[in-house]
Amino acid sequence: MFDSLSDRLSGIFDKLTRRGALTDSDVSEAMREVRRALIEADVALDVVKSFTDRVKEKAVGQEVVRSVTPGQMVVKIVHDELVKTLGAEADPIDLQSVPPVPIMMVGLQGSGKTTTTAKIAKRLTERDKRKVLMASLDTRRPAAQEQLEVLGKQTGVDTLPIIKGQTPQQIATRAIQAAKLGGYDVVILDTAGRLHIDDELMRETEQVRDIAQPHETLLVADSLTGQDAVNLARTFDQRIGITGIVLTRIDGDGRGGAALSMRAVTGKPIKLLGTGEKLDGLEDFHPERVAGRILG
Ligand code: GDP
Repeated sequence: MFDSLSDRLSGIFDKLTRRGALTDSDVSEAMREVRRALIEADVALDVVKSFTDRVKEKAVGQEVVRSVTPGQMVVKIVHDELVKTLGAEADPIDLQSVPPVPIMMVGLQGSGKTTTTAKIAKRLTERDKRKVLMASLDTRRPAAQEQLEVLGKQTGVDTLPIIKGQTPQQIATRAIQAAKLGGYDVVILDTAGRLHIDDELMRETEQVRDIAQPHETLLVADSLTGQDAVNLARTFDQRIGITGIVLTRIDGDGRGGAALSMRAVTGKPIKLLGTGEKLDGLEDFHPERVAGRILG
């Protein structure tokens, strides 16, 4: 059986019986365990390095107080730094803007973008009582627009009527106009993905962004893609400017490493988690829970 990171850290410090300040060598052995646990959780290597450096800096020189063991103290430093890196508290979708508030969904094909669009629309409609319009700008993938239409019918959320032959830019313009005319509170644009990041995709997404002026730009990323998700977040943030991340397929990844890496690399909050194929499989992101999962 693998011990949890908390147990392993406590184990290291069990040997340390003297009181006083923690030394560099006391902490170094513990940092090797932290590094191992983060790598096992699929955290990107450069993020692991800067994380352990920060924890080490905080731990070395700390006076061990009588009420806690050195192990408990280091576990707390690691925990607090995990929570801080993950974003301290839940960060919901921001709708504080003039309606119709545009939300643009971006990401690669197959990441769960269309499903997440419908999940968010359903939640905003049912829980938050907003009038939502969804529009698919995916003119590439056969039947992508129809897929969103079907999801709209299932969830009782309106979708922009499909007009074949329109470009994504034209659909974006039409969606914003329809949302204004129809008195919608929110308009969600499901942009086209590609199998890989390419320049054409980025240019198209930039143009849609300029037309729609989204209040939220949410990157949908598959948590199972690990290190690739980190590069994806970096590229989309640099080119498009994202306001938050939705991590999908969390139901298949209990480790939480992608969340830590993406947040650390972009500084943008993880807003939501996709927890299944069903349309109510959407949860708020709680940094404390993910930190707890990594610490075990
Ligand atoms: P898109 O190409 O990015 O629009 O991806 P889709 O929304 O069509 O999703 C691709 C597949 O992933 C579908 O079979 C979805 O049901 C599935 N999917 C989406 N989100 C999740 C999730 O959070 N968990 C699981 N297990 N499957 C998901």
